[in-house]
Amino acid sequence: MRKVVKAKDKKGNLIIPSILNNHNTNYEWESIAKKETKPPASMKTSKDVIRELDKYYFGKCAYCETYCNAEVEHYRPKNHYYWLYYEWTNLLPACHDCNTIGTGKGTQFPVIGKQETKPQFETKTNKLNKSYCLHNKFPLKAEKPYLLHPEYDNPKDFLAFKINDQFVGIDIIGIDSKEKGEKTLNICNLNREPLRKNRQSIVVEHILEQLRDTFLDCKEEGFSYEKILKKLLKRFVAIKRKALDITLQYTLLYDFVIESSENFEKIILPYYTEEPETQKTIAAAFKLYKEFEY
Ligand SMILES: [Zn+2]
Repeated sequence: MRKVVKAKDKKGNLIIPSILNNHNTNYEWESIAKKETKPPASMKTSKDVIRELDKYYFGKCAYCETYCNAEVEHYRPKNHYYWLYYEWTNLLPACHDCNTIGTGKGTQFPVIGKQETKPQFETKTNKLNKSYCLHNKFPLKAEKPYLLHPEYDNPKDFLAFKINDQFVGIDIIGIDSKEKGEKTLNICNLNREPLRKNRQSIVVEHILEQLRDTFLDCKEEGFSYEKILKKLLKRFVAIKRKALDITLQYTLLYDFVIESSENFEKIILPYYTEEPETQKTIAAAFKLYKEFEY
């Protein structure tokens, strides 16, 4: 999961895509909010909604950051929060595994505060009060959900990584005292084996390949400590660029690895099984990179 910022107007309000802000949608939304119509299991306009979400999520699942054939996910589950069916702050793209009962989130939505049970209607018009449907405003804000919202929480403050105890891929771990990170990874099952393995093969293996190539290049071109350092620094800059590229998968892990020497040594070096001297050179080069980064 990584932080996502949706477009806002000059007043700071989110710009609602027209597919969610037209006569037909509003009519159906009112009817669902008044319990005249049941919230449909799958959204009629789901393809168009996903297209709008993909402008910010780039074909990735909002929870696990895997490229996927995304489904429209209701952050607050539609079975309970039926009146949020078409609410833009409640819609995320999610992969089937993160979204579905059994493999992922399903209808789980634990909160620290008190759970809202019904919508609010405007007194004069009897229409759904949409300002009360916003995730970051009263009354929903007071629920204080455990599940992280990628557009309102900064996942970096709640989640970190470690090598899996059985050495099968990379685990995600919760680090905040309120346990929002821990609860989120359990709700969405973010340590399922394919995900752990993907993090390793896509992020860790890619970085290891870069490191090995550096030493191979140097062997061919003639070895010198300065030359190796220079080449390694370039590789680290390239990793940083990946961490900032929001179109890529697993960028939270890229970001974690490049953030500190401690993280880099914890996640990358145990997999780099070449001779101890090269490991030392890499660790020293990384420390140097961090000194010059800013
Ligand atoms: Zn997912």
